[in-house]
Amino acid sequence: MVIGVLVELSNKNIDKIFDYSVPGNLREFIKIGIRVVVPFRHQKIEGFVLEIKEKTDVSNLKDIIEIVDSEIILNDELLSLGKEIKKSTLSTLISCYQVMLPKALKAKHGVSINKKYDTYYCLNDDVKDLSLFKGSQAEIVNLCFTKGEVLKKDLKDISVSSLNTLIKKNILVEKICEHYRLSYSNSLSKKKELTEDQKKVVASVQAGHGVYLLHGVTGSGKTEVYMELIEHALLLGKSSIVLVPEISLTPQMVSRFQMRFGDKIAAIHSALSDGEKYDEWRRIVRGEAKIVIGARSAIFAPLNNIGMIIVDEEHSDSYKQDDSNPRYNAKDVAIIRGKYHNCPVVMGSATPSLEAYARAQKGVYKLLSLPNRVNGRSLPKVDIIDMNKEFKYSRGHFSRPLIEDINLALINHEQIILLLNRRGYASFVTCKSCGYTFKCPNCDITLTYHKASNTLRCHYCGYGEKVYEACPKCFEKALTDLGVGTEKVEEELNNLFPQARVLRMDFDTTSRKGSHEKMIEAFKNGEYDILLGTQIVAKGLDFENVTLVGVINADTSLNIPDFRSSENTFSLLAQVAGRSGRSQKNGKVIIQTFNPDHYAIEYTRKHDYIGFYNKEMTIRKELKYPPYYYICYIKVSSKDKDFLVTETGKIKRALVRNLDKTIILGPSPCTIFKLNNIYRYSIILKYKSDDNIREILNKIIEHYKVSQKIKIDIDFNPSHF
Ligand code: ADP
Ligand code: ZN
Repeated sequence: MVIGVLVELSNKNIDKIFDYSVPGNLREFIKIGIRVVVPFRHQKIEGFVLEIKEKTDVSNLKDIIEIVDSEIILNDELLSLGKEIKKSTLSTLISCYQVMLPKALKAKHGVSINKKYDTYYCLNDDVKDLSLFKGSQAEIVNLCFTKGEVLKKDLKDISVSSLNTLIKKNILVEKICEHYRLSYSNSLSKKKELTEDQKKVVASVQAGHGVYLLHGVTGSGKTEVYMELIEHALLLGKSSIVLVPEISLTPQMVSRFQMRFGDKIAAIHSALSDGEKYDEWRRIVRGEAKIVIGARSAIFAPLNNIGMIIVDEEHSDSYKQDDSNPRYNAKDVAIIRGKYHNCPVVMGSATPSLEAYARAQKGVYKLLSLPNRVNGRSLPKVDIIDMNKEFKYSRGHFSRPLIEDINLALINHEQIILLLNRRGYASFVTCKSCGYTFKCPNCDITLTYHKASNTLRCHYCGYGEKVYEACPKCFEKALTDLGVGTEKVEEELNNLFPQARVLRMDFDTTSRKGSHEKMIEAFKNGEYDILLGTQIVAKGLDFENVTLVGVINADTSLNIPDFRSSENTFSLLAQVAGRSGRSQKNGKVIIQTFNPDHYAIEYTRKHDYIGFYNKEMTIRKELKYPPYYYICYIKVSSKDKDFLVTETGKIKRALVRNLDKTIILGPSPCTIFKLNNIYRYSIILKYKSDDNIREILNKIIEHYKVSQKIKIDIDFNPSHF
């Protein structure tokens, strides 16, 4: 027996199948899709069995060393899915398989995670007459009769000696069952009667297949629709996947699913220990969990017979893996799996991505909508505060109207959410007096401040200019680079409202496991008046008593040098606004900004997604951005700066020679030009039809494979730059 093994070496040079022979005693265990340990250049390494054959042309074959898995970990569907992802992302096949497996399974050879076991007893089938037993023996036998299986511990509590006697007499038989680290309660809640709008949506999905875009305002009952669809799949004996942006940030969502479906769900998220992830993964493989909820990588859940795939908050950029290979988008994978299982894929959002909405308009996706909140509540009133005018009244970050409304809410014992969006890492320069920010003349993108060279640069085309002393618009010497921290605002808040109990939630305060859930619980229970946080406060939270949402500075996300900054701002503001007035009381939203006339802010005020979409689409068309054009981001890095410059120039020329329909921008230095002593340049491709981009890029990758001096990362449809 000869097997073809894809070996697991992260080295980019090796992405090949090697032949090995299998010793006689191991042959019966060999299956395609399991892992084996093989000798490779004086090392022992792991690999996936991809081929089983009778013979090979390779001379002096080596034997495999051992078998890692008893169960198949990559079934046929996942094996072919990996090949598709390799093709579309230009990553190695091995990286595409690795990304599908939980970390615990990828653990280095030799380190394994223990399974835990529980001992149970049940009645021997031969036992017919229970009246034969007396006293504690009768108690034990009766308990086993009514419950089927009983934990050893519970029987010992009745009587150890009776238990031992019954075991000895073969009345009770032992059963060892795996003990999973997590447990799900089975106290199921009653489901809600759907509204007419919800019923219509459910009916159209049930009747069809393909991809649906569910555009539903915040609080319109999308989650309830997802649960109904999943229940329908369950009744047909089918399983489901629910993708959420960051599951540890959406505990309320998970608990709703848990209350509806009990232990049929498996929730996979980064806060689980490796052991817990391993357990969840095996519950899925064994078909014990039918509904998998998780972030990006949950799309690879090894479920069979999938009947429904849900992608919640479809617009979220977290579905794109952008920090390592393969740079895939879970939404694309969802569509591939949906096709394979011939099941619907439902993507939902209050603010769909432009790409998705454009596809829905073209009929590629089917558009569904929930235009109203479930309880008939109107969306909250949004006030825009022009901080250019407020600037003279306050030294700090709070405008007079916001202070006033916070006071009012505090008096009424209502709760407040304050968003301080600090997502931008690169700082930008703005004029404190008139709000002017520097933009690239070619790209309409905010310039980024480079402290070392004291210049402003465009990260798209490489344009650069010196920093001025005074603002070119109002001539005041009031230029400043922006960067406001949550900590600073918290301090200010404590000074302004000494009586208020303030809870700060950001990545610094929520890094410990479970702390985020505890904070949300505490805020829900009314232990705090004000929740202050980064964009994590905007996501999917449902607090009844919140009547005021304040955005400290809407400009932070507007000024991020990215063509999606308006879209991201609109979606963030709409999401956070949706946290206000979800229950009985009317809600209000106050947005502070230096750009009150910006269309992203204006359309937020009007709760007008379609208006925003139309406006943004005209801009994207004009500037040749998605969804009109595809983008491919090529990052070239090297320790040797001069070498990098020459080689990037060569790459650019090769691209220009071969791709005549493609717009090629750059090379220009990356946002972080030098990182760990490695220099980085980028080239951006914009294209309408595929040309032969992947073919050419593959040739370039092949060409540089042998070179240890240059690394090329390729990102199709990047979520940001
Ligand atoms: P979304 O996911 O669109 O934000 P949710 O599904 O969270 O909306 O619904 C918003 C609120 O309305 C939740 O508290 C939910 O329990 C409630 N809800 C949803 N559908 C119904 C319904 N048909 N009847 C009663 N309450 C509902
Ligand atoms: Zn530019």
